[in-house]
Amino acid sequence: MPELPEVETIARGLDQRVAGDVIESVWLGSKLEPLKSPPEEIVATLESRRIATVRRVGKHIVFDLEVNGVPRGRKAKKKPARVKAQLGQAAQWVVHLGMTGRMLVCKPNDEVEKHTHAIVRLASGRELRFVDPRRFGRLSVAHGFEAAGSEPLEVELERFVCLFRGRKTPIKSALLNQRLLSGVGNIYADESLFRARIRPRRRAASLSRQDLRCLYLAVREVLTEAIELGGSSVSDYVDANGDEGSFQLQHRVYGREGEPCLVCKTAIKRVVITGRSSHYCPKCQK
Ligand SMILES: [Zn+2]
Repeated sequence: MPELPEVETIARGLDQRVAGDVIESVWLGSKLEPLKSPPEEIVATLESRRIATVRRVGKHIVFDLEVNGVPRGRKAKKKPARVKAQLGQAAQWVVHLGMTGRMLVCKPNDEVEKHTHAIVRLASGRELRFVDPRRFGRLSVAHGFEAAGSEPLEVELERFVCLFRGRKTPIKSALLNQRLLSGVGNIYADESLFRARIRPRRRAASLSRQDLRCLYLAVREVLTEAIELGGSSVSDYVDANGDEGSFQLQHRVYGREGEPCLVCKTAIKRVVITGRSSHYCPKCQK
């Protein structure tokens, strides 16, 4: 499942490739699960719009759409995403990749893959295609889309501390709660807790301000590193073949059950916390 760094990588790749292009027409498949907005609303909102920018919000890919023909295109491209989004009568096309969703930039004569649920034809002659075999992905349109939780790379320390203070749930579950922080998934939660030297089962309420500060820095560090590593595979990720990028964070605990801790050589443990496997070093993490 794509997590925040992957979605960031994909959104950046799409921004490089399709920002500035104009949506000419939209084809939607007959399967209704991937459509979170009514199909006719999706078509009406997308058609004839210009893609001002593509960015990540939580684990969503957001295409900021503006009315075509407004001559603010190239200049607007240099402005921050938030400013651009307000230009024109802004609307957003929001894509959640779910488990297996992919956004492909294709040429019209590229073979249409099985499980293609949407084809967006662009004025440049290319097509954006949404492919999703398992159909947990979602397409919707919105005006003023915002994620439910705080953005982990933008949230300030004070706010971060407030989010977790007094919560009786294990810190691991709190990190995965998308209404608190938006976009932190299982892998990066485990890796962040390892770097902050906090056991995943610790109750959030038991963490000191200093613990939370360490965790705050660890979450940012892990996500930033992962995005930087993903950067090299940006162009590959959304190519016509839909090959996944070679992005891999150097995992220190995730998926390393029984292997020696990279710091102290103690065997990494795996436990299940509210249904999610969690990996930690019993010696380094308290
Ligand atoms: Zn260790």
